[in-house]
Amino acid sequence: MTGIVYLNDRFVSEPDARISVYDGGWLHGAGLFETMRAENGCVFRLESHIERLRRSASKLLMAIEPEALPDRNVFAELLERNSLKAARVRLMVTAGSMRGHRTTDNSDFTVCATVADLSPYPADFYEKGVPVIICDFRISPSDPLAGHKTTCYLPRLLGLRQAQQGKCVEALWFTTANRLAEGSISNVFIIKNGVLNTPPLDTPVLPGITRGIVLEIARQIGIEVQECPLTVNDLLDADEVLLTNAIMQVMPVIRVEKHDIHNGRAGPLGKRLLQEYRTRVKEECMSK
Ligand code: PLP
Repeated sequence: MTGIVYLNDRFVSEPDARISVYDGGWLHGAGLFETMRAENGCVFRLESHIERLRRSASKLLMAIEPEALPDRNVFAELLERNSLKAARVRLMVTAGSMRGHRTTDNSDFTVCATVADLSPYPADFYEKGVPVIICDFRISPSDPLAGHKTTCYLPRLLGLRQAQQGKCVEALWFTTANRLAEGSISNVFIIKNGVLNTPPLDTPVLPGITRGIVLEIARQIGIEVQECPLTVNDLLDADEVLLTNAIMQVMPVIRVEKHDIHNGRAGPLGKRLLQEYRTRVKEECMSK
């Protein structure tokens, strides 16, 4: 079946969706994207994803007005046109045609949204937990792209490939100063003595939308939260380790390299946070 995509204010069938060969995303990776989760034909926390993309655009590309981006109705129509209720939803903004431009100061954005089957992770990953590796690559706090979800995603995909080659689900990245940062495609949490710890945003890490919601839930249900620098010893010594992103939601880690976490079993706080998170997704997507 040929899908329908949204490209620069129009719904078009996938084979007819064309962009310039001079597009900054294609030429230089000058682009940003969001991966979102839709349930019941509704994108969960769309506004937070759009806000993050706009913040990154104004730092790395050019300021982009909210009107230039698809709104809730556009996403609802895109899902409907593709007969999808539960989906992986992607919004992408690139610098547009950069023919003749030597910098990314170009407001001729290309804006594209696509939807695909949700293809959730297997239920086993949540019940039994997943193994992860420590990535060979490092994040440098002085990398101008660190903390932004840019289309320069190849290092992240190479990190994931390392994980998959070791039959693992994620590769955890450290900074050049040996601080735990995040996964290749997720944020990371450590639970120790009932306290939920996660690396602070200036580590740097991506300000994950799921990360923010998990912190919000933890505070609401009375779990103490700390955003603080973490080392490899904190990771290996954790009672529970969790990964978060919009598609994973909250996923327990039961092994880091050869080291078992929580005796190789998914722990209780992670389960509680996942349950609460899923309840919020259901409630918010049913009510819109
Ligand atoms: N960190 C990185 C590097 C990511 O690529 C992602 C998502 O793809 C996340 C964290 C989690 O972000 P979110 O919760 O907004 O999906």
